[in-house]
Amino acid sequence: MDEVPLRQEWIQRAACADEDPELFFPVGSTGPAERDQEEAKRVCERCPVAHQCLTYALWSGQTSGVWGGKDERELDRLRRRRRAAQRAAERGTVARGVPRAG
Ligand code: SF4
Repeated sequence: MDEVPLRQEWIQRAACADEDPELFFPVGSTGPAERDQEEAKRVCERCPVAHQCLTYALWSGQTSGVWGGKDERELDRLRRRRRAAQRAAERGTVARGVPRAG
């Protein structure tokens, strides 16, 4: 895993600093909540610290909200893929669906 960036070091440069927090933590996943989530992802697209944000979210186990341009389902999927890759690495095999480095 990447080195985990300290939140206080990158959060000041976040593109979402002046945005409504409810965009990033909508209640539910359909209708208005889905629209909020998509709008939040558009903010993340222009964020200079999106990589740090995503790394932090995965490391700290965030399970709700949009982080680094990923919604809850995407974060969960990334987390599961990373765990599978880690287990495969420990066994000396390659996890399915996880590209080889290099
Ligand atoms: S990637 Fe998105 S949620 Fe993370 S700091 Fe940037 S704008 Fe905010």
